[in-house]
Amino acid sequence: MITEKKILKFRDLSLNKLKLMVKEVRNQKSIEERNVVSFSKNFTLSLSNYCQNQCGYCFYNHHIPKSGKDENRALIESEEIHDLIDKGIRYRCKEALLMSGENPGKFEIVQKKLKEMNFDRFIDFIVHISSLLLDNDILPHTNIGVLPYEDLKELKKFNASMGLMLESTSQKLFQQGGVHEYSPSKAPSIRINHIKNAGKLKIPFTTGLLIGIGEKFKDRVNALYTLKEIHNQFGHIQEVILQNFVYKKGIPYLPDKHLKIEELLKITGVARLIFGNEIPIQVPPNLIKGYEKDFLELGIDDFGGISPLTIDYINPSKPWPMIEELDQICSRSGFHLKERLPIYDKFINKEGFISENIKKKLQSIN
Ligand code: SF4
Repeated sequence: MITEKKILKFRDLSLNKLKLMVKEVRNQKSIEERNVVSFSKNFTLSLSNYCQNQCGYCFYNHHIPKSGKDENRALIESEEIHDLIDKGIRYRCKEALLMSGENPGKFEIVQKKLKEMNFDRFIDFIVHISSLLLDNDILPHTNIGVLPYEDLKELKKFNASMGLMLESTSQKLFQQGGVHEYSPSKAPSIRINHIKNAGKLKIPFTTGLLIGIGEKFKDRVNALYTLKEIHNQFGHIQEVILQNFVYKKGIPYLPDKHLKIEELLKITGVARLIFGNEIPIQVPPNLIKGYEKDFLELGIDDFGGISPLTIDYINPSKPWPMIEELDQICSRSGFHLKERLPIYDKFINKEGFISENIKKKLQSIN
């Protein structure tokens, strides 16, 4: 339970003071681990833009008209999947992110496409692609929105890790004019239930907060404590993403005030104080360009998936940095950039957290 006192304590900290406190936390790590920051070389399979929700800040879903190469797709074609896998192999990507809108299989147009490809359900399609990726020594990481327990259980067999953003615990976002007014499955209770189910199933899990969508500082702190509590219970959260909302032309949400980078920096330092060294923190490097050193000093340990071949479909106007470029920035800031797999090392040997399929693959991938 967070108290007003605790929130005020965090809110009043200057960034310089936070950096000093974060350094103390980091110094509790071993010398070898202290200044390491990781990333995963990956590519994305954007499977379907069809989504049952309409989040006010979302550019990806099919409700937002798109043109050219960004055009909304009911279902990715086989040729594109094979082409991306071939390129992924050439670029030595070890991870494929499988993403889509939420529950695309409920739309007739998607059902029709699935039938044409001989699949009854969208989840069968995901299992098929995941197996194909594994056959090519690429580890799948699936994040396709809220799923039933049985689907999560099935996907664990073929996924090195999975993900779902908590985004926020603020109920205000569901009110009239809020970004989740037309997104019933963004209810915190539903997201928390999904994250807990992943915990019960021992799935190494990525989650996080979306910052700057109408929530307040206290909501951010509350969401961080919520994730910490879940992790204390199940021990499966392998990283927490702190992702800043970036405005895009054509979306319904236009914030009164745009998020300041200082606000994201502050909640990053606060997250490190709340999590200690137990949960890694990730920020997307394409959304914080120019501030990498500050984020490193405020406790991040990871830059997430960086792709040499596919775009950030959520923020298409924000290109990924070159890995070499990021490596140099880290070195200049006193950190060492290191590639990781979509499953963090500590989960590889943790009892029950890895399926037989993934275990076998790790031997040929590593
Ligand atoms: S953010 Fe996700 S759930 Fe919300 S509309 Fe976009 S694709 Fe759908």
